[in-house]
Amino acid sequence: MSVPHDHAERPARVLAILATIGIAIVIVVLVRSPSANDRPEWVKIAPPLEVPMHPWQWIVIHHSGTPGGDTGSIDNAHLKDRGWEGIGYHFVIGNGRPMERGRIEATWRWRCQYHGAHAGSMPAQAAYNQDGIGICVIGDYQTSQLDAFVEERVARLCALLIQHVPTLSEQHIVGHRDIRQTACPGANVDINRIRYLVRSQLALTAAK
Ligand SMILES: [Zn+2]
Repeated sequence: MSVPHDHAERPARVLAILATIGIAIVIVVLVRSPSANDRPEWVKIAPPLEVPMHPWQWIVIHHSGTPGGDTGSIDNAHLKDRGWEGIGYHFVIGNGRPMERGRIEATWRWRCQYHGAHAGSMPAQAAYNQDGIGICVIGDYQTSQLDAFVEERVARLCALLIQHVPTLSEQHIVGHRDIRQTACPGANVDINRIRYLVRSQLALTAAK
């Protein structure tokens, strides 16, 4: 009697092992929650806790229109050549010349939750300066292709902002050319594709 009994128990034991593995996988997935995953990258760019988040309405994508550069070179140009308070953008993303490719840097405007100076000086653009987060991707995307990795990083920054700024969604992402007559951010930057990449990243985070 004992032999058939053992045989009957074996599938049950296998099921128990499989169930244990299943529970372990669920625990691992839960522990690696989206907030835990996103925290390190968000922490690098989050404004200080004592600075209240501005109710941003737009994310405006720009290119530098130059082969290379970094946050400092744009800050200098905007301060000295244009007489502004300093860099007009809230974020800069590098293209490897010389700022690290795909590196995201927040400027003082973002840290202080201060309005931008990137949309244009006409009354029609005032709201985009006041309530628009300006992201400058280093490079000239009218004459050169946008590297897929840098494009992913642009989408990553937009996704992070949408996750942490309650007033934003991917529908609020626009190109500079959508709000004034300019080629910026260049013919090779496809805003619809960036929106699609953002949606994919947000869906992936939600599914984790
Ligand atoms: Zn622009």
